[in-house]
Amino acid sequence: MTLTERLYLPAIANGMRITFQHIFKKKATVQYPEVQRPIAPVYRGHHVLKRDEAGAERCTACGLCAVACPAEAITMTAAERKKGEEHLYREEKYAAVYEINMLRCIFCGLCEEACPKEAIFLTDRIIPSNYGRNGFVFGKDKLVEGINDRVDVTKRQTPAVIEFKKDKFHQHNITINDLVDLDEH
Ligand code: SF4
Ligand code: SF4
Repeated sequence: MTLTERLYLPAIANGMRITFQHIFKKKATVQYPEVQRPIAPVYRGHHVLKRDEAGAERCTACGLCAVACPAEAITMTAAERKKGEEHLYREEKYAAVYEINMLRCIFCGLCEEACPKEAIFLTDRIIPSNYGRNGFVFGKDKLVEGINDRVDVTKRQTPAVIEFKKDKFHQHNITINDLVDLDEH
């Protein structure tokens, strides 16, 4: 090894050259959260539990989303709707507890596909960071959409599906009362 090499001068100079080259290159990173990258319209992020047109929770705690979930991220406890709660819950059975562990979730969207009540959808919202694991277990307080803050999920549905659902007999979220109404007309 020569004296120059022993002093590491060529290596230091080469390192500085590479550093200066990168200073003037376009940055690969963005200053999140002030700057956010554009995401696809069908991006799958934070789930939402939808309400129906009248504001009642659509979820009937059937458990199909939990069965479909490959990550076993969904748990729920069912309860029976009481008299006078019809405005709160669309069906006679509802989810008293509904939780998704966002650390387990792989955002595959299978829960959305499995749901027969059009109750659960993935939105374009990014899951916020947290300091503890428990903070990533999202309950109904974070999942059910606000009564005055409804979430638009039309981008998650293809035009063909939206067209298909215009036919009331083909709607998956139809209740027995709706069917009686349709029969009468
Ligand atoms: S998106 Fe996939 S992994 Fe996440 S809760 Fe739904 S089914 Fe489970
Ligand atoms: S979100 Fe849908 S699939 Fe899951 S329990 Fe509720 S109604 Fe059933």
